[in-house]
Amino acid sequence: MRVLLTLPPELAAKLAAIYQKLKEEYNCIAGQISLTCQDCPDNCCDSWFFHHTYSEWAWLWQGLNQLDEASLARITARAEDYLQQSEEQLAAGQTPRIMCPLNEEGRCCIYEHRLLICRMHGIPVALTRPQDKQVLRFPGCFRCQKIVKEKYSKPDEAPFMDRTHLFSQLAALEAEFLGGSGQLYPKIKKTIAELIVQGPPAIHL
Ligand code: SF4
Ligand code: SF4
Repeated sequence: MRVLLTLPPELAAKLAAIYQKLKEEYNCIAGQISLTCQDCPDNCCDSWFFHHTYSEWAWLWQGLNQLDEASLARITARAEDYLQQSEEQLAAGQTPRIMCPLNEEGRCCIYEHRLLICRMHGIPVALTRPQDKQVLRFPGCFRCQKIVKEKYSKPDEAPFMDRTHLFSQLAALEAEFLGGSGQLYPKIKKTIAELIVQGPPAIHL
């Protein structure tokens, strides 16, 4: 039997609080760097990245379920196309660069339900890996890197957001969502297209 996993309101509220904190920290760093997406010639929604939690998968589907049938069918068709294109590009040894199926005319169709990684893109960030405490630094988007190069003598001098605590909070929320039965659920590493084509997260009992 297939049982759908839906995010209860109290966990949706916790997730919203994580996103709000992220937004505040993002705006603070972006302000210091003077990074804005206004009139950006790029659209970073064609970047190749993955999602790792059932809770955000469920959150994404909460947004998708608010769309009308025709919109959802259009998005699903684009997601299927995305999967085919990405397979072809990977087979050709390339890192896929394909517009996200949720991007319509430059805008995100589920903006309020977009995921943590989408909300973080742009500014320089750091992450301390839990397994070996190694600090990983990411320089931000191309526009951010250009500004940093002009403004600071070394990239390390630019302000950055440490996203470790937000990832830890998301991991704790995920554990709560899976009710201590995380071992029943395989680890996930999925593109947004896969999260759409595979439908809402579910457990097979
Ligand atoms: S995050 Fe960077 S690349 Fe993406 S739209 Fe904003 S400025 Fe442009
Ligand atoms: S979910 Fe929305 S914000 Fe994230 S990549 Fe897709 S269109 Fe862009």
